Amino acid sequence: MKQTPLEQWILEKTRINERSREALEEYQIQQLVKTLHYAKDKSRYYKRKLEKFDIDAIKTISDFHAIPFTYPEDIKKMSTDFLCVSEKEIKRIVTLNTSGTSGEEKRIYFTEEDLNQTIDFFRHGMKCLTDSSDRVLVLLPGRADGSIGDLLKKALALSDIECIVHGVLKDPDEVEQIIIENRISCIVGIPMQILYFSRLKSEIFGKFIKKVLLSTDYVPDVLIRELERRFQCAVFNHYGMTEMGYGGGVECQALAGYHLREGDLYFEIIDPLTGEPVKDGQYGEVVFTTFRRQAMPLIRYRTGDRARFSPKQCSCKTFLRTMDKVTGRLTNKVVFSNSQEIQLRELDEIILKYGEVLDYTAAYSETDTLVICLTLLNGNSFAKLQEEIIKQIRSRWKVHVIISWKPDSRTLNITNSMRKRNIINLQKGGGKDG
Ligand SMILES: [Zn+2]
Repeated sequence: MKQTPLEQWILEKTRINERSREALEEYQIQQLVKTLHYAKDKSRYYKRKLEKFDIDAIKTISDFHAIPFTYPEDIKKMSTDFLCVSEKEIKRIVTLNTSGTSGEEKRIYFTEEDLNQTIDFFRHGMKCLTDSSDRVLVLLPGRADGSIGDLLKKALALSDIECIVHGVLKDPDEVEQIIIENRISCIVGIPMQILYFSRLKSEIFGKFIKKVLLSTDYVPDVLIRELERRFQCAVFNHYGMTEMGYGGGVECQALAGYHLREGDLYFEIIDPLTGEPVKDGQYGEVVFTTFRRQAMPLIRYRTGDRARFSPKQCSCKTFLRTMDKVTGRLTNKVVFSNSQEIQLRELDEIILKYGEVLDYTAAYSETDTLVICLTLLNGNSFAKLQEEIIKQIRSRWKVHVIISWKPDSRTLNITNSMRKRNIINLQKGGGKDG
């Protein structure tokens, strides 16, 4: 088992010179204190927020836990208050609109140096799965300078790995041609898009693609199983979000959870209700703090993602932490009037196991009704699918279920943006995600 290349990278970058959690933690405390001083000095938001805190009194991680959280809503309301540099030093601005509602945008700012840090992480993170014999196709946005695809291409170029950045999947025929002409061996993309493509173009996928890196949204288990069994692919998961500087962690060859970018970010898992850290092995909300970020450092940022630190050592024997695969957004569930809960990931395991399903959407309404729309190549199998899916849902939850289907339009009504999937709330005054 090859050890995660992130370990050597982090040892060199932090100059801690020993494989010990204590040494890394000491480094992280120093960086946290630096981030706090920098943010308090330079940004209006943190100047207000940290006014009463004596930063120099922070000597341990538990001292740091007294610092208040930063929420996504704070960035939505006042993103420029987070800025620590002048406008001319900003190299890239990413506008995130997770809910689709205007006025709900988050703006995330990066300097050139911030983007270089991400390139450095991508460079070493990609070594988990690729070498110079690989040819990589990236199905993520990449046109703009500083976009995720652009940074990935720059990172792979540093390792002499050939990389084509295509952008999100829109035309499967075109992507099929690119794979054939360039003998692509590794695809990086959005989980549902990769599943969609593999089901539509299974012959080409099986012939060429040996490795897959899934990113930008949580990954249903059923999807990984299918890619592994059907195509004998190695399926790697990456965890990150724009606020982290795109990258947060990536799986090693053990494929058993992400090793984290611990030289650039400090991760915590907290109880979302009490805000207290949970023990390793317990699920909670992922929270992170950035080190050395120039434009927009974030301190104890609440991601809304649900995950846990693995209590076991990874079989690659790294001393880095392992975070078990993120299981989705904490809010990505429906609570019906009889207090039953359905999580999107539970629906995924039921619905996506049917190979005829290319994509689906789920919504719920006031009358405790789950409204599911399947995207199918054709309707031949619909009656059977409808019966089986309803039976499985009804055997677990007392809800009404309506299932319809629509043909695959090829213009990709599929989850084709970077927006994270969720169960759509049709109730009056329904909540929003993100
Ligand atoms: Zn490992």
